[in-house]
Amino acid sequence: MHETEEKTLNSLVPLGLIHAFQSWFRGFQGQRVGDPRPCPKCGETTVWKNGYRTDRLFAILITEDGFDEITVEIQRYQCSECRHSYDGDIGELFYEDCEYAKPVVDLCLFHAAKNPFHACERILQNQYGLQVDRDTIQRYAELFGDEVAEQHSVTIAGCILSMNFLSLLFGVSTVDELKTEFADELAAEDIDGLVGVADETYPAKKGAKKDLYEENMRRKQEGENPKKWPEGFTVGCSYLTQLGCFAGLQCRNTAFARALALALVFPLLGVDYWLTDDNDCYNDILPDRVKCLVHKLRTRARSDERVSELHEAGELEELREYLEDEYETAYEEIVATLREEHPSFWDEDEEEFNGPVSTNAIEGGNWRLKYGLGVPYARCHAARARTSLLALRESMSTFTNGEPAESFAHRHGSFSFEQVLGESSTQPLPPRKEDHVTQAA
Ligand SMILES: [Zn+2]
Repeated sequence: MHETEEKTLNSLVPLGLIHAFQSWFRGFQGQRVGDPRPCPKCGETTVWKNGYRTDRLFAILITEDGFDEITVEIQRYQCSECRHSYDGDIGELFYEDCEYAKPVVDLCLFHAAKNPFHACERILQNQYGLQVDRDTIQRYAELFGDEVAEQHSVTIAGCILSMNFLSLLFGVSTVDELKTEFADELAAEDIDGLVGVADETYPAKKGAKKDLYEENMRRKQEGENPKKWPEGFTVGCSYLTQLGCFAGLQCRNTAFARALALALVFPLLGVDYWLTDDNDCYNDILPDRVKCLVHKLRTRARSDERVSELHEAGELEELREYLEDEYETAYEEIVATLREEHPSFWDEDEEEFNGPVSTNAIEGGNWRLKYGLGVPYARCHAARARTSLLALRESMSTFTNGEPAESFAHRHGSFSFEQVLGESSTQPLPPRKEDHVTQAA
């Protein structure tokens, strides 16, 4: 665990802004929370108010005079039957298992999508004047990853193999359901076809690059072939290009396998066509899939004699032209077939095929997952937490390719951190309509 160092505000950030932000937090100071709920011991619903406690931490502010703790009061209750005394329901302001209040946790999760945990700590300090240490941020992120895996899972034979982002974002399990439930929204945005793309990436584990280097030094001395890749996690993702959102995600310690491929593409059921790399795991599952053009050409180029000749002769300019021609020919072939099978993706005016033909269509999604992590992780738990938050932020974007652009999931989906972390196990008493949280899927 990291010691909490004394923190100061950075004077380069206008202090007035930080103070305004902090004054919003101060508004909660001393507020009383805690709705009545049934006795957690015996379930009795007749309960009495029984004082309050004042020590529940809401947030810690970084001020010119050190840390300032914002606390709220919690209403206590006593059971009329067994006399047990307990806290009221604080689900309105707090998530279960998180010591800071919801707005602090949400901020941690928002920034942990694109930043390693220590960088989040710095952002909260500099931009908000909030004290949260990196271990706490990591714990919240892992809690989020666990809950998504638990609540929005694709399971095979009782094992959670993948996360279903369509369930997380829209409350539906497959593209088929999405097409039905969001028919009007899709039509309003002129989306009349959906293509599903699946691909894998392997972010290196912490220390794995150094291990690889040392291993290969040893192999070199003993005349063995070098090992190609550092040890990594297997991150598989499925993606809907037209919506710019993830459909499935998995981050695992094990190699990619057929059952994993099946779980990964399950949410894509109902797409107009599938596009994957040429990993054999997809062979039986998606016999009619379109293989990524780039992957296909890359594999073909490896055994192409002309490529080897040009490469050995150092004729790089000619090699480039040769490969471009190859690509052009293969592209026209694939588009001719796809255009016939999926005419809705053919743009008559532009004389162009709009559907993707390579897994590059993930729009760097995969790349962003791998490099978005920023730092290598030793534990899969942390890597999964970060990748799930990354995929969420990518899907819920409001700014893409250098300009403001609201994603389909942001505009029409139902996601909130509250929906994932806010499911309190305690039932409010008496049941009031506005307290019922609707849980998507
Ligand atoms: Zn009781």
